[in-house]
Amino acid sequence: MTEKYDVIVVGAGPAGSMASLILARAGKKVLLLDKASFPRHKVCGDCLNPRIWALWKKYGLVDSFKTLPQTALEGLRIEHDQETLLRRNFESLKESYISIDREIFDAWLVQEAIKSGVVFIHETRVQTVHFSGKVETSVGDFQGDWILGADGRNSVVSRNAGLMAPLQNCRRVGWQAHLELENLDSDLHLRFFSEGYSGLSRIHDQKANLWMVLDSKVSGIPQKIANRYFPHLPALVWHSITPVNRRPSALGKGKIWLIGDAARVVEPFTGEGVYFALLSAELAVKSILNVKRAEEVAGALLNYQRDHELLCHSQIRPGFILRWLLRSPERAYRWIPLIRYFPGPVSRIINRLIGI
Ligand SMILES: Cc1cc2nc3c(=O)[nH]c(=O)nc-3n(C[C@H](O)[C@H](O)[C@H](O)COP(=O)(O)OP(=O)(O)OC[C@H]3O[C@@H](n4cnc5c(N)ncnc54)[C@H](O)[C@@H]3O)c2cc1C
Repeated sequence: MTEKYDVIVVGAGPAGSMASLILARAGKKVLLLDKASFPRHKVCGDCLNPRIWALWKKYGLVDSFKTLPQTALEGLRIEHDQETLLRRNFESLKESYISIDREIFDAWLVQEAIKSGVVFIHETRVQTVHFSGKVETSVGDFQGDWILGADGRNSVVSRNAGLMAPLQNCRRVGWQAHLELENLDSDLHLRFFSEGYSGLSRIHDQKANLWMVLDSKVSGIPQKIANRYFPHLPALVWHSITPVNRRPSALGKGKIWLIGDAARVVEPFTGEGVYFALLSAELAVKSILNVKRAEEVAGALLNYQRDHELLCHSQIRPGFILRWLLRSPERAYRWIPLIRYFPGPVSRIINRLIGI
């Protein structure tokens, strides 16, 4: 007979690992599944919003996190082609804005979940989930009481459970490459150009992360754009991801719920995605742990929906004008230079995004 788990978590990104860790520490029997072979690469800007420190403190993860190779960012520059429009110094931040390789970060959080008692199986692709709690995978079937879909922006769980909103026509593709750059400062460089925008930051030593969000019409040429600003850059290995934006999914049905990007995708520019994934995981688990009887499931889902809405309201709304601009590369390229004339409001938006 198949072994039964209290919760099966699909996807071992930040949302899935965090949810598993909290559930296991609360005494639940948790199975965490991922299709990738860990540690695995992840298309990301590799920057962690300073608000994550509050979570590390809450779950006793500060010392362990600090052992990982990382860079404390010293500032944020908004650039338009070769010109710097604005620099925000991070000196006054109480907690550091961290740049860290997602391959290292995600593998670390999985290890912390395992230390907390989670059973983790990688190289296991989830194919179908059922409301009975059955999970069909590439290596066999598993049985859970709850299923948490933390399988990212193209979530199989969301599609299977009928939670995914119809696809929006997304005209943008996300690109990312790691590179060696001598003499790179410790600022996060957010650059606008006619085809889209990019982020560049040191992750550790001379290793840096360069990512871009490009209009899909020009998406074959991230290297050409990179060479425009760094003429001596060798050919890089580029990874891509799509869609960049999509409509939010319904958060759950019965005992199948969604967290992280599977529930709602956050605009890459604001650097909130990982924090948002961690927090949505915590909110979902809090509601699940309150359920003592079957009749309480629907109420728990309502609570999660309310908390999630509040999270989106507080985290996502402050930058809505920015997001409106970013959805169209031409629009952003034309209007972004105006921020020179509004340093006050722009600084306030940045403050809200980084939680100060
Ligand atoms: C270009 C770009 C730059 C970004 N930069 C930043 C940034 O600097 N800072 C930031 O905070 N956010 C950034 N983000 C957003 C951030 O990457 C995501 O919000 C974050 O990774 C979401 O975490 P998650 O755990 O929900 O999903 P993911 O990290 O996507 O993890 C999902 C996991 O599910 C697994 N999986 C998927 N399907 C299956 C399946 N069928 N079976 C089993 N496993 C499966 C995958 O292998 C993966 O490990 C960026 C996004 C883009 C596109």
